[in-house]
Amino acid sequence: MVEPATGSADLELSGLIRRFGTVTALAGVDLAVRAGELLTILGPSGSGKTTLLKAVAGFEMLDAGDIRLKGRDITLAPPARRNIGMVFQNYALFPHMDVAANVAFPLEMRGMAKAAIAEKVAWALQTVDLAGYGARLPRQLSGGQQQRVALARAVVFDPGLLLLDEPFGALDRKLREQMQLEVKRLQRRLGLTTLFVTHDQEEALILSDRIAVMKSGQIEQLGTPEEIYARPANRFVADFIGESNLFRCRVSAVADGMATLTGEGGLTLRIVAGTLTAIGSEIGALLRPERPRILVPGETAGNMAEGEVVEAVYLGESVKYALRLVGGGSLLVRLPFKAGHGMLSPGQRLRLGWDPADMHAVPWS
Ligand code: ATP
Repeated sequence: MVEPATGSADLELSGLIRRFGTVTALAGVDLAVRAGELLTILGPSGSGKTTLLKAVAGFEMLDAGDIRLKGRDITLAPPARRNIGMVFQNYALFPHMDVAANVAFPLEMRGMAKAAIAEKVAWALQTVDLAGYGARLPRQLSGGQQQRVALARAVVFDPGLLLLDEPFGALDRKLREQMQLEVKRLQRRLGLTTLFVTHDQEEALILSDRIAVMKSGQIEQLGTPEEIYARPANRFVADFIGESNLFRCRVSAVADGMATLTGEGGLTLRIVAGTLTAIGSEIGALLRPERPRILVPGETAGNMAEGEVVEAVYLGESVKYALRLVGGGSLLVRLPFKAGHGMLSPGQRLRLGWDPADMHAVPWS
């Protein structure tokens, strides 16, 4: 499903197809990236993310489709003529050249005058917080610093598009989080239209203006992080993004805008009906683990379930509990951790409640 872009599109991909023998890496991709937005391609290994990025960069030829950047058809243009900045996981800096020479390289390729190059390089290094590092060699820098040099080199020539392919994959968690924020800030400040590739859904949720979720060479859903998380289009997206409880149910009644669902083990759920009208139809009812709350004795809610703690995992601000429900089935919940209250232990019973609006229906088949 592809939504039309409402803002002005900077990068327009239409009908991209790429086959490798019997494998279809891109199975007809349509996508419009708006000016100044950071759009993430998210998907499991082998879904076609890198092939898509390489096609945009000009390193992968297409069997069909066109690519337009700022209105210009670049489908057949050589990589160097596309005016695209790129950062990949393995830094790919020139090891024998110092930082300034690395950053200057794309400008020299463009035949810029020496004085203008020096000025631009100083600006780019300042932009990534590496002013004063120009004379170092890449091996004299940390992994994070090397990635910043790569970023400076990618933005120094004012590219029309920035491509980032798992750029933080080799960094440790703390540095990765720091770099994510830095890149986001830089991208905003420079207003750079950016296509970002990752298989890390948390990273995608944090960084993106919009996310395109890919599977088997196709875009399964395109939307904001909130839309993708709260209203996934299908079971694949629901399962791939974040943790979820997905109940296989049948619609047993619809009245006053509410649908009643019957799940396995006699579970009864209430959900905002929306487009659910067909009694007897099979759906998946999605409930994110952070939605349920503990009910105090006597309290009721639109949806209720009682269960026993099977496993508890302390996560800092919250605790994740796996519950076995009375009547069968299981439920994953994430409850706030209150200092001084301790954690629930395996075997303890609790009653949980959540609202019909906390649930979202996806097609089962
Ligand atoms: P990962 O996250 O593992 O990098 P990906 O989503 O980037 O995966 P691609 O690298 O685009 O996926 O690969 C998509 C499909 O195309 C895979 O099945 C892959 O094996 C296949 N493929 C990619 N490049 C080639 C190639 N040069 N020759 C043959 N098959 C290829």
